[in-house]
Amino acid sequence: MGLLSEGSPLSWEETKKLAEHVREHGINQFINLYHRLKDRQGDILKWGDEVEYIIVKFDDENRVARVSLKAQDLLAKLNEKEIADPHGVKSLWRPEYGAYMIEGTPGKPFGGLMANLNLVEANMRYRRQEVTQLLDKDECVMSITNFPRLGAPEFTYPIYYPKPDDPKSAAKSLYFPDEAIFPGHPRFKTLTRNIRQRRGEKVAIKLKVFNDENTKIPVLGAPKNEPDVVLLDAMGFGMGCCCLQLTFQACNITEARTLYDQLAPLCPIMLALTAASPIYRGYLTESDCRWNVISSSVDCRTEEERGLKPLRENKFRIAKSRYDSIDSYLSTEGGKYNDVPLTYDEKVYKRLRDGGIDDLLAQHVAHLFIRDTVSLFSEKVHQNDEEDTDHFENIQSTNWQTMRFKPPPPNSSIGWRVEFRPCEAQISDFENAAFVCFVVLLTRVILSYQLNFLIPISKVDENMQTAQKRDACRKEKFWFRKAHHRARAPELNGTVNGTKENGVNGYDENYELMTIGEIFNGKPNTFPGLVPLIRSYLQSMEVDTDTHCTIEQYLRFIQKRASGEFVTTATWIRTKVLQHPDYKKDSIVSDSINYDLLKKIQEIQEGTLIEPALIGQGNRSKTKDFLPPALQKHLALNGCCVGK
Ligand code: GLU
Ligand code: MG
Repeated sequence: MGLLSEGSPLSWEETKKLAEHVREHGINQFINLYHRLKDRQGDILKWGDEVEYIIVKFDDENRVARVSLKAQDLLAKLNEKEIADPHGVKSLWRPEYGAYMIEGTPGKPFGGLMANLNLVEANMRYRRQEVTQLLDKDECVMSITNFPRLGAPEFTYPIYYPKPDDPKSAAKSLYFPDEAIFPGHPRFKTLTRNIRQRRGEKVAIKLKVFNDENTKIPVLGAPKNEPDVVLLDAMGFGMGCCCLQLTFQACNITEARTLYDQLAPLCPIMLALTAASPIYRGYLTESDCRWNVISSSVDCRTEEERGLKPLRENKFRIAKSRYDSIDSYLSTEGGKYNDVPLTYDEKVYKRLRDGGIDDLLAQHVAHLFIRDTVSLFSEKVHQNDEEDTDHFENIQSTNWQTMRFKPPPPNSSIGWRVEFRPCEAQISDFENAAFVCFVVLLTRVILSYQLNFLIPISKVDENMQTAQKRDACRKEKFWFRKAHHRARAPELNGTVNGTKENGVNGYDENYELMTIGEIFNGKPNTFPGLVPLIRSYLQSMEVDTDTHCTIEQYLRFIQKRASGEFVTTATWIRTKVLQHPDYKKDSIVSDSINYDLLKKIQEIQEGTLIEPALIGQGNRSKTKDFLPPALQKHLALNGCCVGK
């Protein structure tokens, strides 16, 4: 996303009236852009990561940590360099939902050469330093997924109190003051207000409390019929969480559709492995991940759409929030595994088909377009459908799913892309870089070996829920595909298993429940393991020694996290709370526990504290700021790309 353009948001009533208008023109715009760009070929692999961060302020005297609401000021400074030299900077900074959040990406995308993998961590380190230089001594920029006491009393600096009865309040939350929403752009408050108004009531995020010996039930604020639930009532509880995302450019639209599909079953797996957020509003919960929290935090469905009342005002029952895992595959191979009926408007689908869009893509877009716009700016209402894509983007960018299929932006050199969105943010640059490089390598292996990870969409949905359970990484099993070669799958079906290829059912024998350890490290006679597959791919690649060493560090770390030798961030956080001398076995993460936890996290990210359970003996990667000079010369001469 580029720098957000400013504008004047329309009221909810005005926005609501224009829902059909946005849909109508958004669909036209998609059809037009599709025909302009469908034959685009030969884009090279480019990719980039996005890390979201929280600014924490420590009060050492009182042993309290708060989120610092200074993102707007900070961004003004961070963006100065970019404004002066848009293409020369090493990092780009963007606002996020929280007034205490920022999002950083590399200044330009990384390329296909293996040596690029050695730049990621150094770039992440640079970003962290860049922010740190602008902070006060008692502040710290942290890539934590959730601030543990978000929404607990006085969690912001400066302190603000929620005003649930103020008619001007966007969130009307009992816990999350509007001042904690990023004030520098109207988008965030507008979304908050409109989602609440469309739904007809505040959002309700429900998490089972981790029920310890002395936990008080009902939990403070719990709904009457669900006394063991931590109830969160604002968009900020979800969208105020941080994640780690990746975007890849594919060589053409077909490759983008393949990558979209093949990465989709890996989303719950990567969510489980990166789980990092067990504490909400100061309570330990039964959940380890942010996913369902964000999903409910932007759930704009009405009671009718959620199936609580008969349909009168609304058109459809809708199974999921606009933030959730994907509902259908896009490639021909993937189509066979779309076993969940998709909700969409037949008329919209037909317009797409009449506009020359194939069945699977038409279903996908029609399904995205069951959502109404929840943020519209007066300057953007009237557009030229031949050139503009804002109405399409309006709906696309407020469908926050595990994967995003992204058409090339208008008038740019960028090609078809896919975005990988499930991972939780990790404490250290080492961990974040390890996951980024792992996923990049996995895409290369998928394409080169024509791997097939497809399982029915319903099983991916099931895995998404499993992934969020307490310590799922070590305790749960996940549906995963056994026969992983695309070319070999039908043959296995026909001969080995004796079943006929017959829609989804024909593939029944091709997937089974596996542990995260088995998925990453291999299961004898069943699946070679993701890391061994990557290792075998690497043997055929030319890789310089430093990059090789770095990748090896990352792969070893991932293998150990997957096997359970290292624990997830979530498990580590839980342990620190349970072991804290102030913890009263009541599930409450008090100010002092929160303070000590965040101090430890600060030391880990700075490398002054080694926590063997989390990352072993620390980081020994050979990450670098620049490509090796010999490669730079070679690139300048040949401009070639060997990573694919
Ligand atoms: N912070 C959101 C998350 O944790 C993602 C927001 C975005 O799409 O940038 O998933
Ligand atoms: Mg973001």
